[in-house]
Amino acid sequence: MYGSIKEMKKPVYLDYAATTPVDPRVAAKMQECLTLDGCFGNPASTSHCYGFLAKQAVENARQQVAELINASPQEIIWTSGATESDNLAIQGVANFYKDKGRHIITCQTEHKAVLDTCHFLQKQGFDVTFLKPQKNGVINLDELKAAIQADTILVSIMHVNNETGVVQDIEKIGEICRQHKIFFHVDAAQGAGKLPLDMQKMPIDLLSISAHKIYGPKGIGVLYVRNKPKVRLQALIHGGGHEHGLRSGTLATHQIVGMGEACALASLSLDDEFQRILALRKSLLTKLDVLSGVTLNGDAKQCWPGTLSLSFEKIDGDALLMALEGLAVSLGSACTSAMIESSFVLRAMGVAENLAHGTIRLSIGRFTDAEQIDYAADQIIEHITKLRNMAPD
Ligand SMILES: *Cc1c(COP(=O)(O)O)cnc(C)c1O
Repeated sequence: MYGSIKEMKKPVYLDYAATTPVDPRVAAKMQECLTLDGCFGNPASTSHCYGFLAKQAVENARQQVAELINASPQEIIWTSGATESDNLAIQGVANFYKDKGRHIITCQTEHKAVLDTCHFLQKQGFDVTFLKPQKNGVINLDELKAAIQADTILVSIMHVNNETGVVQDIEKIGEICRQHKIFFHVDAAQGAGKLPLDMQKMPIDLLSISAHKIYGPKGIGVLYVRNKPKVRLQALIHGGGHEHGLRSGTLATHQIVGMGEACALASLSLDDEFQRILALRKSLLTKLDVLSGVTLNGDAKQCWPGTLSLSFEKIDGDALLMALEGLAVSLGSACTSAMIESSFVLRAMGVAENLAHGTIRLSIGRFTDAEQIDYAADQIIEHITKLRNMAPD
């Protein structure tokens, strides 16, 4: 049996960038799609009302997702999450348009779902440019322009960075891509539902979204695929021809309904939630001012305020994480089996190795309150001070 988190003394959850709890209103809708008395049918069953009702639920959810990003429902393709959406977008364009060109541009600070997909394509003969961001994490647009070649078919740049919260100027990047007739994919797993996105206005061709980053369930996501001008993709998964043949497989009604509801709730509270989370961020940073040797990684203004990457001088991140047992935060570095390697995102931004090792990512979300932020600040101040006093110097 899994231990119940209720039985433990729970640390304060400050890891919303890793995943979010499902909003209870979302869970309630999902619950209605599972059992015999609910909307459990196969949306592809056309011969009875069970299928028909499930199809209606799926199309209603598609509309809710489309509304969040001001797209049309036909442009929304259900996937298993942003990882699959990134794969479908990048491999899909690469394989469909490979006779047109084989060059792709992306950035060193992208999510692994984008980076590893690009590495995979490199092995198949595609040429990939990995742009290095500036120190503040933002891509230099002149460097992007300079990287464009005659055979460039795709640019893939994320909206909000998962480790630092840095926001890329996706509108300007999209304009550059349009001028050069290059497809533009955006991994918006950390941006959709948090910052405004408008596909009618923004020159974006493909956009990945994940439900579990916006209070929906894990295992469901969306790829937005622009209709006009049309983007063609080669499918990754075959069988049954669901989702215009782009993504076969029985649609997971409960997951889809959950994602739809999560998007509808996000649409309603986008501005309020931004302001509330911005205030919590400011309060945390103000409290941490009493500490010396603290840096906030990434541009302090061009960012999603809920995600903070904080580096502490003369601190080992592992030791800090251990000490901060009252907080559920994550390390700014990933441990591989052989050695502790600092975060590739911070390294790409030129953060010094010793500072990168003393970095934690703290992410604030819908259920974070002022009391939790006060507690987090007190804990960080107390333990940084203790650890520094213990250090030999
Ligand atoms: C979480 C995340 C993903 C992966 O999404 P899944 O739905 O978990 O597959 C991709 N990109 C970014 C930026 C993310 O934050």
